[in-house]
Amino acid sequence: MLDAAAKTFFHLIAQNRTLNKLASRYGMRKPTSFARRFIAGETVAEAIEAARAVQARGMLITLDLLGESVTNLDEADAATRAYLSLIDAIVASGIERNISLKLTQLGLDVDKASAVDNLRKILGRAEPEGFFVRIDMESSAYTDVTLDIFETLWTHGYHQIGIVLQSALYRTEERDLPRMNALGARIRLVKGAYKEPRNAAHQKKLDVDAAYARMTKKLITDGHYAAIATHDPRMIDVARQWARDHGVAADRFEFQMLYGVRRDLQAMLMKAGYRVRVYIPFGRQWFPYFMRRLGERPANVMFVVRGILVDSG
Ligand SMILES: Cc1cc2nc3c(=O)[nH]c(=O)nc-3n(C[C@H](O)[C@H](O)[C@H](O)COP(=O)(O)OP(=O)(O)OC[C@H]3O[C@@H](n4cnc5c(N)ncnc54)[C@H](O)[C@@H]3O)c2cc1C
Repeated sequence: MLDAAAKTFFHLIAQNRTLNKLASRYGMRKPTSFARRFIAGETVAEAIEAARAVQARGMLITLDLLGESVTNLDEADAATRAYLSLIDAIVASGIERNISLKLTQLGLDVDKASAVDNLRKILGRAEPEGFFVRIDMESSAYTDVTLDIFETLWTHGYHQIGIVLQSALYRTEERDLPRMNALGARIRLVKGAYKEPRNAAHQKKLDVDAAYARMTKKLITDGHYAAIATHDPRMIDVARQWARDHGVAADRFEFQMLYGVRRDLQAMLMKAGYRVRVYIPFGRQWFPYFMRRLGERPANVMFVVRGILVDSG
């Protein structure tokens, strides 16, 4: 994780339309193009192919159709329809039935009720087919509304859904983790990918990590099939050690990592007998997701520059 200034820099670039257009034109053009390291492709077929390859390595998957912050209801409807056809394609393909989505992709910024309707439509198709649907967590401006929507749906009987909590936010440890755990919800614990203000979030990596480690321990012993979503070997060691010390079997929780990140660690954990789920993002709107990944690790910027030079050579 970079410091706050660098995170801000990458978030600003992520919002730049010209760069977005340029990157979208070149980033996926060829099988070797730079964005393919982190994005499975732009089409459902490419995503399913990537999922098959991950499953062939013995790992679990979740598919994420990229898109966020839509600005009108037509776009939200289009995203909802795209998710419905993704569900059909996954069923037809025979790969694992597990998807992740974002509420702003379904129209949360435009109209909350419409976003909830859209989510219900997706769950209406997904749940009878045995899918698990994870609602990703976005910036802290959306934490309350995301948790409220999750809780409402949960109390209305939708139990094949899961939530995400971020250790960077002050509120998570005291309020959100106990609240979601009390519901019986499946929680994915992450550090948090968004640039957050000082009054909402730890600014130092050390503090984000310490909170992550404490919450990992809570979730391993008191959670409901927790997902420890990190590439940080020290956090992974905390989870393994805590589970061993408290007699929690390896199939009572899972590790999750992003497509293209620390494949060595993914393979090592799997060999050691743990469940590893790979988050596979795909779709045409990959630029903001891609920029967040660059913002997490400076070495990735050089990787992109090299990729562009090779591609244009
Ligand atoms: C399955 C999954 C789902 C996620 N869902 C959400 C979500 O819903 N909401 C949200 O806010 N965040 C989400 N995230 C992102 C998360 O919040 C972090 O931003 C991201 O995982 C980086 O933090 P880290 O825990 O890997 O630790 P860090 O301390 O950032 O990194 C630890 C080590 O991991 C490796 N690493 C980390 N990131 C990269 C990278 N991009 N490229 C190469 N190596 C890297 C490096 O070796 C680094 O030293 C998700 C992450 C995962 C794995």
